[in-house]
Amino acid sequence: TQVPVVQLNDGRSIPQLGFGVFKVDPVETERIVSDALEVGYRHLDTARIYDNEAGVGRAIAASGVPRDELFITTKLWNDDQGTQSVFDAFEASLERLGLDEVDLYLIHWPSPARDRYVETWQAFERIRESGRARSIGVSNFLVPHLERLLSETSVVPAVDQIELHPAHQQPATASFAREHGIAIEAWGPLGQGKYPLLELPEVTSAASAHGKTPAQVVIRWHLQRGNIVFPKSNRRERMAENFDVFDFTLDEAEMQAITALEREGRVSAHPDEVE
Ligand code: NAD
Repeated sequence: TQVPVVQLNDGRSIPQLGFGVFKVDPVETERIVSDALEVGYRHLDTARIYDNEAGVGRAIAASGVPRDELFITTKLWNDDQGTQSVFDAFEASLERLGLDEVDLYLIHWPSPARDRYVETWQAFERIRESGRARSIGVSNFLVPHLERLLSETSVVPAVDQIELHPAHQQPATASFAREHGIAIEAWGPLGQGKYPLLELPEVTSAASAHGKTPAQVVIRWHLQRGNIVFPKSNRRERMAENFDVFDFTLDEAEMQAITALEREGRVSAHPDEVE
């Protein structure tokens, strides 16, 4: 399967469809990520706080997939925001992953209560200069957080990874990002299974029209909107299902019906409230 790529504002590119490992049990991570690599995923999204970077690293090492065919993202946890703490946390992540560099390093949450994300971003700029994070970006940044980075620092984030699915499309953040050349990564692309997205008639009717599943329809909606996604599943058959989305296209009416499902359906915490 040839996964399309999205061009980033720093000249690099990222596979538009990947595999995320939030809540993947550290004990099972190596097997689950090995399955994902066998299914064909080449873009993996982990984080320090998921406690499974080591398992991701073991699966990469065991896979035999050439490093330059992989796109690996990890994230800095909130209590490591700062300067030296960022450098230390980054080293520790690389070590757990068993890699010399990552493709993308993200500030996981702005944590405005700490008021250290500008300083943290300046440390990220230095990590990028070192070449060991090829691209740098942010996660859960809303417009005010992005505006502050743009006015006080010199590198525009390559991506903003935000909660985004048909019930919660974050139009203000998404359009600000688009205007500034920041690619949108949609986390919780299936609503994390918490919101009954896959049962809504707008989704199920498009699924039956194309002979696909509701999850495939929602992933397809993201891809056609230009979002980067990495749905998560522990089950190999669902990994394969979520990857098998390149043989159909939603038409304009189907896209519009799903886009109309917006209802501020945030499934997780508000970024200003996460410390
Ligand atoms: P998701 O929307 O990908 O939902 C995953 C859940 O959906 C699964 O646990 C399963 O219950 C269900 N599911 C998966 N495939 C299915 C299918 N084919 N049919 C039916 N149900 C299916 O949620 P997520 O894992 O939270 O988000 C994806 C990735 O985004 C994460 O793994 C992680 O990498 C990233 N993420 C980042 C943040 C952040 O703060 N930056 C937060 C959450 C997630």
